[in-house]
Amino acid sequence: MTDKNALQIHMFPCLSDNYGFLVHDPASRQTASIDTPDADVISRELEARNWQLTHILNTHHHFDHAGGNLQLKEHYACRIYGPAHDAERIPGMDIRLKEGDILTLGAHEIRVMETPGHTSGHIVYYLPQQRILFAGDTLFSVGCGRLFEGTPAQMWDSLGKIMALPEDTTIYCAHEYTLNNIEFARSIDRNNKDLERYYQEARQLRSENRPTLPTTLSLELRVNPFLRPDAPAIAETLGAGDSETLARFAEIRRRKDRF
Ligand SMILES: [Zn+2]
Repeated sequence: MTDKNALQIHMFPCLSDNYGFLVHDPASRQTASIDTPDADVISRELEARNWQLTHILNTHHHFDHAGGNLQLKEHYACRIYGPAHDAERIPGMDIRLKEGDILTLGAHEIRVMETPGHTSGHIVYYLPQQRILFAGDTLFSVGCGRLFEGTPAQMWDSLGKIMALPEDTTIYCAHEYTLNNIEFARSIDRNNKDLERYYQEARQLRSENRPTLPTTLSLELRVNPFLRPDAPAIAETLGAGDSETLARFAEIRRRKDRF
């Protein structure tokens, strides 16, 4: 039985390895685009469904996330929401969001969490009723965002907020990086049976040109090395030098940058 008022989520590829996401509330007919990687593709997907764009929810200022803002705003007169911390770097931003802010799409709540690390102003959007997270470039399946503007401590703290969500949370990440991330993870987390199983699944999906996303928090807690720096197999690979969780996390990030 499907609820005709349930939120509809449409995910589609954009640019080389981004995903676009549209969230539509049938009751109010409001529609949000999570980030704007490609205005033309997003417009086409909206038109194909006869959806009117009312909200843009930006996670961070990078061009492959906010580059389509102005074109879409001009066409749809939608409102642009984004991190208060990055208001100057996000084109056309109307509403400044901070940790704990709640916005609504029709009757559905969307909570804002600040997750600095990839950029200093990065935020993610959590829908508590649906247990859905739009993670931007903070968390990827089996990976996390590169630290362009933040410290390992900031990113570890940001990931901690995500780890505190219910385990059955569905996570939409902004890039299809899963296979490469798994290949790295296998190099430091040997004999992880869940990771091996996921590797087979992900290879199959990608060979059919299908997305590996969304993922779930429960899967990530078992296979994502950035969420489990204290796992014995990982600690063993990293050696005795880094005995603290944060130092291990930072070392995993360093190794991934060079992978
Ligand atoms: Zn980014």
